[in-house]
Amino acid sequence: MSGKIYVRFWGVRGSIATPGKDTVKYGGNTSCVEVRCGNEIIILDAGTGIRELGNKLLMEKPQHINILFSHFHYDHIEGFPFFSPIFNRNFSVTLIGKPKLEGTLEQLFGTQLMFPYFPLALKELDADIAFHEVDRENFIRRGGISIRLEHLNHPGGCIGYRIEYRGKSFVYATDTEHSDQLDVSLLKLASHADVLVYDSNFTDDEYAGKVGTSRSGWGHSTWTHGVKIARTAKVKKLILFHHDPSHDDRFIDELEKEARKEFRESYAAFEGLEIAI
Ligand SMILES: [Zn+2]
Ligand SMILES: [Zn+2]
Repeated sequence: MSGKIYVRFWGVRGSIATPGKDTVKYGGNTSCVEVRCGNEIIILDAGTGIRELGNKLLMEKPQHINILFSHFHYDHIEGFPFFSPIFNRNFSVTLIGKPKLEGTLEQLFGTQLMFPYFPLALKELDADIAFHEVDRENFIRRGGISIRLEHLNHPGGCIGYRIEYRGKSFVYATDTEHSDQLDVSLLKLASHADVLVYDSNFTDDEYAGKVGTSRSGWGHSTWTHGVKIARTAKVKKLILFHHDPSHDDRFIDELEKEARKEFRESYAAFEGLEIAI
């Protein structure tokens, strides 16, 4: 593979998977993004989109896979037990994230993979599973890649990641709520990024409660705030991500159109979207 960062979206939806005829274009799977830098495979979150990605990886030669978790709400982990490389002894998988609660990452996944939630236990997986707990000041370095972390504003905590490789940068900042002030640590994380993936779960009207109840305090943001961050941080490309389950294809089409009026390089994420940086 070339010296580029290769990105593919496998799940772009927030909160819960939303299959059906009205979500065919953007897809109904929850958060999962594949990033490749040289031979390194980095997966961001294990929402339901990771199932199909796992099937693709099984067709390749056995290898090491890193999964970075933004946080551990269901929509970001529920695909993990259906990620087929974990049932293949020729693969090794490192789970990377910061458990917010007391306890380790291993305990956290041990709870997900246990009776009565799942028929198999974590220790019964065939792949070699490792755990890497990260904290605010951590940089992760792997094969010429550096990954920087910042805390985002989300109930129970969430981490945003900036992946840099050969002078290119990709930022994953989902599940974060804005405030009146621009988030300084997010601006730092996104500064001059080639691509910023941003939590665009709500419209301004939804967030303010002009449509239904106010979503303030729910831990999510809007595309308009994404545009502010993208402009201020001088981001090249803004990807609207974590679509609300109630937003169907037509709704997201409109939302993307509106966003492009404000920031030309805005794209609503869809399953199958590929970007080479
Ligand atoms: Zn989420
Ligand atoms: Zn969340």
